[in-house]
Amino acid sequence: MVEEQVKSRGICDENVIQAMLKVERHLFVPKRLQDEAYEDYPLQIGESQTISQPYMVAAMTAELELSPEDKVLEIGTGSGYQSAILAEIVSEVFTIEWIDMLAKRAKLLLEELDYKNIFVEIGDGSLGWQGNAPYDGILVTSGAPEMPELLFEQLRENGRLVIPIGGRIVQTLTKITKIKGKSHKKQLFDCMFVPLLGVYGWKN
Ligand code: SAM
Repeated sequence: MVEEQVKSRGICDENVIQAMLKVERHLFVPKRLQDEAYEDYPLQIGESQTISQPYMVAAMTAELELSPEDKVLEIGTGSGYQSAILAEIVSEVFTIEWIDMLAKRAKLLLEELDYKNIFVEIGDGSLGWQGNAPYDGILVTSGAPEMPELLFEQLRENGRLVIPIGGRIVQTLTKITKIKGKSHKKQLFDCMFVPLLGVYGWKN
């Protein structure tokens, strides 16, 4: 997976590569799909939600430009796989999931895997998690109609927000850097994510 889907497509951040080599992706997908866990596509994880394609996880993580001392906020815990990748690289990962069942299942699995630096919360991640702000990186793993203002506010100076922005079906992966309090946007590539719900997301 790492050789063929990640390195060969230009991801060279060694922290990302090592994290993806270490985290066992098949543990994060339903048993009946474990044979497909390392394939080049997203998989269903229940509740009409998905675990993202491995390359997408790698690309989004690399765009965050993380260092070991960083604190990261993830919106959309889903299976917990992306949270585990982040937790291998940074000091603390705060992750919010809208769907109760997914949040509880991911929390349990991440505890079983002994991740002590991941904190899972159930709720509307489009509002961020003010109590632990500011963050060096914020990663949104569902598609937003526009940049959620509160997420930008919760970024540290020089912090990076990586988020799919666009329509309900197709979005553009966008990287927003906070420089002198202002947002600097870079559009990366087109992508397809499940919708971000909530106050700063889609309404249903
Ligand atoms: N990062 C996940 C993984 O590694 O498995 C994949 C996440 S999946 C593509 C997107 C997730 O975002 C879904 O689980 C969905 O329930 C969640 N979501 C959608 N809107 C949300 C919101 N406002 N707050 C928190 N989670 C949200």
